[in-house]
Amino acid sequence: MRWAKIHSPGIFHHSAQGLTQHTSKSTIPLASTVSDAGSAAVGTEADFRLLRYFATASLAAFVVVAVLLGYVFRTLSVDALINGYQSEHINHARIIANEMWDEHFGPLVLSVADQPADQLTTAPQIPALHQKVLKLLNGTKIYKIKVYDLRGLTVYSTELKQIGEDKSDNAGVLAGLRGLNSSELVHQNQISSFEGELQDRDVIESYIPRHDPVTGQVSGVFEIYRDATTVLAEVGQRQWLLVAAVVALLTLLYLAVFLIVKKAQHQIIEQNQERRKAQQALALSEERWKFALEGAGDGVWDRNLQTGEVVFSRRFKEIHGFAANELEDQTEAWNARVHPDDLDRIEADRAAYFSGKKAIYANERRMQSKDGSWKWIHSRGMVVARDAQGRPLRMIGTHTDITERHEQEEALRLASTVILTMDEATSVTNMRNEIISVNPAFTIITGYKPGEVIGRDPKLLASGTHSVKFYQDMWNQLATSGNWHGEICNRRKSGELYMEWLSIKQVRNEQGAPTHYVAVFSDISERKASEVRLQQLAHFDVLTGLPNRALFSDRLCQAIAKARRDKTGLALMFIDLDKFKPVNDQLGHQVGDLLLKDVARRLSDCVRRESDTVARIGGDEFVVMLPEMETLPSATLVAEKILAALNRRFEIGSHQIHISSSIGIAFFPEHGTDEHKLLQSADAAMYQAKQNGRNQMYVAPAAPSPDEQRQGL
Ligand code: GH3
Ligand code: MG
Repeated sequence: MRWAKIHSPGIFHHSAQGLTQHTSKSTIPLASTVSDAGSAAVGTEADFRLLRYFATASLAAFVVVAVLLGYVFRTLSVDALINGYQSEHINHARIIANEMWDEHFGPLVLSVADQPADQLTTAPQIPALHQKVLKLLNGTKIYKIKVYDLRGLTVYSTELKQIGEDKSDNAGVLAGLRGLNSSELVHQNQISSFEGELQDRDVIESYIPRHDPVTGQVSGVFEIYRDATTVLAEVGQRQWLLVAAVVALLTLLYLAVFLIVKKAQHQIIEQNQERRKAQQALALSEERWKFALEGAGDGVWDRNLQTGEVVFSRRFKEIHGFAANELEDQTEAWNARVHPDDLDRIEADRAAYFSGKKAIYANERRMQSKDGSWKWIHSRGMVVARDAQGRPLRMIGTHTDITERHEQEEALRLASTVILTMDEATSVTNMRNEIISVNPAFTIITGYKPGEVIGRDPKLLASGTHSVKFYQDMWNQLATSGNWHGEICNRRKSGELYMEWLSIKQVRNEQGAPTHYVAVFSDISERKASEVRLQQLAHFDVLTGLPNRALFSDRLCQAIAKARRDKTGLALMFIDLDKFKPVNDQLGHQVGDLLLKDVARRLSDCVRRESDTVARIGGDEFVVMLPEMETLPSATLVAEKILAALNRRFEIGSHQIHISSSIGIAFFPEHGTDEHKLLQSADAAMYQAKQNGRNQMYVAPAAPSPDEQRQGL
């Protein structure tokens, strides 16, 4: 999972690669995180090269400033020079005019006013005038003077050959004719002066108008030349000095600022590095906890509480059945997935959290997955950003799928209810054979409350009626097959014994090691009693309590089988009371019943051996089976005993009754090799006894030998 770089106003956006920045209009300051890709971005992001920009930009600026300063200085110096010379020239012009205009130049201008230009040199007064001018200007810095008439023609020049030149198109002459002073600096490659021809000179020319003192009108223009070469050279020198000084000063300034900027740059780089490290550390820690959360199966949500935008991690969407590229990034969309019955509870939980009543926002709710199925979700969250007023701006939290746990809890609740309400008692013991839990039915059946048995060995219920081997077998079976069930006699707290149907199962952990035993048992004492009753009804005569015909047949069968196996004999006596009907008829059926019960008792008294059986097989018919009785005398002895016992007077209530009996005797195997044949023989013998006059025994006649049978005897 990679978490992409997030800038402060952004929120997490989950892409196929993980969370990426989600463009948001939000201005919430969020913690920034940096992913692998983010780190690369930071790595390539160049620090602002303050020093480099400063070095080039400021150098260029300093050079421009120095040049500008030099230029401005020069311009101002030249202007000041020109202005200074101009006023000086005006004074000179006045002096010259005062000295020479009225007497010489004024008349000259007037005299040549109508003459063409080419004739101006011929004016007669020029030579004298020239001498005077030279004299006047001797020793001054003035190279030459020129005089123009109102037409702009040169009427006089210290350079005589220039007399007659038309300068009406010269700006200085024109300005002068309009009454304006003007000066300009010009460079002359060659110029004639009083000192002769001069090369490469800087010259200042001033045009000074001459006004007529009477009319005030311009009457002519003076032009005065002055050499400014040396002054300008000085200006140039000073200019360079100034530039050098400025450059030197700026260089010093530059060096000072350079050092400051260098230090600042160093600090910026250090701060950037620290910030980057902090960002990376933050990103790493954020990545770790997100990884931990996702790894633990939790989905992460990141919600902008102002805009309602919400960003979900890949696992989050997976939990709800969405693919990584499927996204509904509005809180409302997710609220719509919440089960309507859970919405109020969630709202209450939120309110409790935001109001500070709860330290963490957490709740369990049902949410509908993409496929429409419902899942139980444990949602937790906390506010991670607040505004200046403390209002929550951003919340981060997790979703955990607890559907399985919920189902398990539901199943456990159900199981617990079943255990608590069922009629069967349960007890759980650990591997040290200590009871760790019992259910209410346990208390009902055994009489022990949970507090009285928990921590104790279940053998406190032992009745002492089972052998040590019984318990050994039980434990062996538990150890081998993991379960045991059967009937067991236990003892209640009251001391009463009871039968229980017990089922014990071993519980194993995931590794297959046994951890507990669960015993489930029910009290079967009543069932046992009714079983005994049913047994009694099925096999015993209700009136006398003697075995009935069915049970007797069974026992006779078994006895014959045993006799056959052991090759021993067996005697069977069929006894029928004589004249019993009249007892019924004369004394009533009830008396007859009581008599039958007494007869049964006396018959039972006549046989002593465990293996002997007395049974009632009909109204007044009884049978006595005597195993291992193969000789007639011993059988006759018993028959006589019976005859005598039944001959004794019976006292039933107020009645004294005297009866007798007829006994038929048959032997196995002589008189029958199976129970039917044997019984038939005994019955027939009894019938014979009746025939013979009753109150006697009759032994079944010996069966004819095969030879006798063949001879028809
Ligand atoms: P006999 O000497 O030939 O045996 O004649 P008897 O009167 O004993 O008559 P028999 O053995 O043929 O009949 C048995 C009588 O026993 C018939 C019936 O009225 C009577 N009886 C059968 N079962 C019961 C019983 O459960 N209670 C009573 N009180 N009488 C019974
Ligand atoms: Mg009878």
